[in-house]
Amino acid sequence: MRISRRVQSIPPSGIRRFFDLVSQMDDVISLGVGEPDFVTPWHIREAAIYALERGQTHYTANAGLLELRELIARYLDRRFGLEYSPAGEVLVTVGVSEGLDLAVRSILNPGDEVLVPQPCYVSYVPCVRFAGAEPVIVATHREEAFRPTAAALEAAVTERTRALVICYPNNPTGSTLDPREMAAIADLAVRRDLIVISDEIYAELTYDRQHRSLASFPGMADRTIVLNGFSKAYAMTGWRLAYAAGPSDLIGAMTKVHQYTMLCAPISSQRAAIEALKAGEPDVQAMVREYDGRRRLFTSGLQDLGLMTELPEGAFYAFPDVRSTGLTDEEFADALLREERVAVVPGSAFGESGAGHVRCSYASSVDQLQEALVRLQRFVSSRVSVEAHSA
Ligand code: PLP
Repeated sequence: MRISRRVQSIPPSGIRRFFDLVSQMDDVISLGVGEPDFVTPWHIREAAIYALERGQTHYTANAGLLELRELIARYLDRRFGLEYSPAGEVLVTVGVSEGLDLAVRSILNPGDEVLVPQPCYVSYVPCVRFAGAEPVIVATHREEAFRPTAAALEAAVTERTRALVICYPNNPTGSTLDPREMAAIADLAVRRDLIVISDEIYAELTYDRQHRSLASFPGMADRTIVLNGFSKAYAMTGWRLAYAAGPSDLIGAMTKVHQYTMLCAPISSQRAAIEALKAGEPDVQAMVREYDGRRRLFTSGLQDLGLMTELPEGAFYAFPDVRSTGLTDEEFADALLREERVAVVPGSAFGESGAGHVRCSYASSVDQLQEALVRLQRFVSSRVSVEAHSA
């Protein structure tokens, strides 16, 4: 009874169990982790090293170095047409992970409800619960390309609904929203007076069109907390650096929680982020081009195996439907790991509506992806013949 009831009530992440298994095996091709295989570009690492050499080892302002906040504000304006004041509308956080936690803790009261379209990133539901509020799941399905419709969201709204947590491009499905769908969701948020927590960490990893932020739609700037960061686009997961941007009352409340719980993000990571924003765009473009090639190669490989797979529009995940093998997503991932040493994540780890699918990250080298496809081919064809025999 040393652990709070709230913490006890939340199960450990379904992804972790898999990583524990993988770490005990040799020769595993891991398509399980959600991070770039690239190392952070050298000039960005060098900026942090240089800051350390100059003795920059102290706390920064709670909200982050002003120079970094100014660069973030300029970046959001240039890339997505969003206008924020670096002085009160931008907060530098320890990953989008911290930004999410700060957002829900700052706006929610016990009993409030939060709409969470699923499948989604594994932290949304636990963080809403940690904040004492109630997540309300809105399931999305392959038939609608895993996109929530405004009508489905509206059907889940009650008088207690305060917020919507949404993430496009999406982890784990790779889907994005088109501007018409976004406009309908924005219109719903305005009509029902919802705060939108928009996780746009994969914004730069949008392949066939330019990313649009939900905050850029009419009436949304004042009710949207945009979360974005350096982990994915700049291959900087280990630096733990991100930011939240939004109206000053919400960012002010988040800064208060951050000030007491985190104080500030690490200074050397902030120095690296300054360099990333000043000179990292060509690196981002080169990595996105590389992911784009892998996305096409891996998706068509999966389709050739007879697994129904949409070409992902963003992020670096393919989300094949594995039901044709006669296995559940858990069974598929378990057996694939044991028999062929390829790690993927069962879709149900991202919510019930992800069941029957597995998440494969294609942020791995082309050689690894090709070898994974060879192993998958062996695995899938053996399953299909087992099925045929038992039929
Ligand atoms: N949001 C999404 C959708 C993610 O996929 C991830 C990491 O996988 C995160 C947030 C966490 O990001 P960070 O490294 O900035 O904490």
